[in-house]
Amino acid sequence: MNKAVFLDRDGVLNEDNPNYVWEIEKFKILPRVPEAIRLLKEAGYILIVVTNQSGIAKGLYTEADVLKCYAYLQEVCDGAIDAHYFAPYHPKYDSESLTRKPDSLMIEKAIAKYNLSRQDSWLVGDSERDIIAAQKQQIRTIKVRTGKNETLPTQTDFWAEDLYAASQMILNL
Ligand SMILES: [Mg+2]
Repeated sequence: MNKAVFLDRDGVLNEDNPNYVWEIEKFKILPRVPEAIRLLKEAGYILIVVTNQSGIAKGLYTEADVLKCYAYLQEVCDGAIDAHYFAPYHPKYDSESLTRKPDSLMIEKAIAKYNLSRQDSWLVGDSERDIIAAQKQQIRTIKVRTGKNETLPTQTDFWAEDLYAASQMILNL
């Protein structure tokens, strides 16, 4: 079986923006993200982005915009990311979806596709719904402070300052 690190996008890989991000000019990759990605990759983790993109359902941007941001991210990370799942839905605008976090279908699909061991895999996220989605799939979680920095009493397994600190934690556990 394989092991993976699931990565939320906004607030973990790039600066979170409450008004959504879909233009490359506003897609600011957070400090030390490429280094963190490289370390995890070298340690044998499959890297999988799992992101809610309900701005698509709201008509703010398109799937093509999301893919453009992903292509840019890959360019900065030397193509080290293995997969990219996004949930375009929003219950108020189009439909409910089990892919949308805090539901966990994106994670479950990736577990099946990449033959992942849940106990050897991780999720790094910045919001409550990332943590809940991972927990539904019995994946260990690290919550980072680079995004929403929610003050909710999240039941995350660990906290880290940013993705780089999270990657150090993963490599040392
Ligand atoms: Mg986020």
